[in-house]
Amino acid sequence: MTHKNPCMRCGTNRIVIRTSFEKIGNSTVTNIETSCPNPECQRKVDIDNKRQTDKRLAMKSRSEERARARKNKKTTIS
Ligand SMILES: [Zn+2]
Repeated sequence: MTHKNPCMRCGTNRIVIRTSFEKIGNSTVTNIETSCPNPECQRKVDIDNKRQTDKRLAMKSRSEERARARKNKKTTIS
């Protein structure tokens, strides 16, 4: 199996550093962890990824708060 996954920063083919299998219900999900062969570049990619994840989590909690606020309003009206 060839796993083509170029680095988003430098375009070099990323290398697989770890493969793990996770059983979810009846299916097995394969988690492939890849890394840029250039450690310095990978470090920057990690920082970028973390920033993206933080942003997503912040957005998610904000929208959950809004949904909760809407629900609370509905119950007070009715
Ligand atoms: Zn790279």
